[in-house]
Amino acid sequence: MKTLRILHMYPNMLDLYGDSGNMEIIAYRLRMRGYACIKDSYTIGDGEKTDFSSYDLIYLGGGADFEQQLLADDLLSCRDKIKAAYDNGTFMLMICGGYQLMGQYYKDSNGEKIPGLGLFDYYTVASTNKRERCIGNIVIESEIGGESYKIIGFENHGGMTDNVSTPFGKVLFGNGNKFGSDTEGYREKNVICTYLHGPLLAKNPKLADHIIGYCLSRQAGEAVSLKALNDELEEKCREVMLGRLLTETDRKR
Ligand code: GLN
Repeated sequence: MKTLRILHMYPNMLDLYGDSGNMEIIAYRLRMRGYACIKDSYTIGDGEKTDFSSYDLIYLGGGADFEQQLLADDLLSCRDKIKAAYDNGTFMLMICGGYQLMGQYYKDSNGEKIPGLGLFDYYTVASTNKRERCIGNIVIESEIGGESYKIIGFENHGGMTDNVSTPFGKVLFGNGNKFGSDTEGYREKNVICTYLHGPLLAKNPKLADHIIGYCLSRQAGEAVSLKALNDELEEKCREVMLGRLLTETDRKR
């Protein structure tokens, strides 16, 4: 049986607004198609024994400034191995606090600079006024599988991210990379970094399948097409949510 291997980093520290649910969704959608899924948890101190490049998907959720500060040194100690996995094509899904830590640095709401892995050029700075945060529902538009797709989520971040060369999507409702931004997240072929919690993949099944499709195709060395699943309920929820947040002509906020 084909098996997809996931490394879920710091699940005990980075798990805001259902972020761990994203990996449940991946496992469920694989199971429904007859694939297996191994989910390994990485916690502080596991760097030595972890073979990052052996995973199909590396995942980090979001967290408060405090947790980001606590784990930063450990994450940095794994930089070369994570970079090797990324260069090798492992898919990286990074949510909010995880997104910030892949960039140059995150200057948090206490003015403390937390070094990022520096895999990408962007950097993030939070206001020292802890009330200045982007909070609420968000809808962005992105290209998934060659088609435009509306991605629904929830954002809550004080960090404002700048210098993003290739954003994940265009903001239709909410803030995105910073207050009133037109763009959200960061994207490359095997990377999606986003502020969208929610959990992201429960609300956006096409995105979940895009990631699964990428991983299975990379393993197989050829394009793998996925059997369609019954997403009737998910689609109804999306309709309600999109109807609530967007008018007939898309609006920002
Ligand atoms: N602590 C970071 C911020 O406030 C990330 C928050 C999050 O992951 N939701 O910007």
